[in-house]
Amino acid sequence: MTDSIDKHSVVEIHYTLKNTEGEVMDSSSGGAPLTYLHGTHGLIPGLENELKGKKVGDTFNAVIPPELAYGEADEALVHTIDKSMFRGVETIEPGMVFTAQGENGQQHIRVKAVDGDKITIDGNHEMAGKTLHFDVEVVSIRAASPEEIEHGHVHGPDDHHDH
Ligand code: ZN
Repeated sequence: MTDSIDKHSVVEIHYTLKNTEGEVMDSSSGGAPLTYLHGTHGLIPGLENELKGKKVGDTFNAVIPPELAYGEADEALVHTIDKSMFRGVETIEPGMVFTAQGENGQQHIRVKAVDGDKITIDGNHEMAGKTLHFDVEVVSIRAASPEEIEHGHVHGPDDHHDH
């Protein structure tokens, strides 16, 4: 029996994420809750810190600084490239997101600015450098199975696999 959230709790939460201006950036409201395995870096560190020790039904607000969220934006990930690099794309506009195969797996690249044939792209996480405001409700808590702990992630009811 797991009463409060600790390492290797499988936790379901409902959350709403807002930016400093109060705009909703993301929310689980109206859909399935978010499920994660506590203590395995499944969530941003600042949110895991806040969730530790919470119980089912607890609700709270958390303000998470960038260093405990998605980190500071890295200028080295901002590049200006030629439009010809985007083969097969008709119109390139700021805010578009492309998926590229990078050295560390798949990477999301956002178009930051367009100046004629010069396209400025940004490989930083969309939330990098931002302070995040969360409204959170703890929906359920259970102990992880040995298999889940070994894999470092949550399994569904019929999810048994080798990896
Ligand atoms: Zn697994």
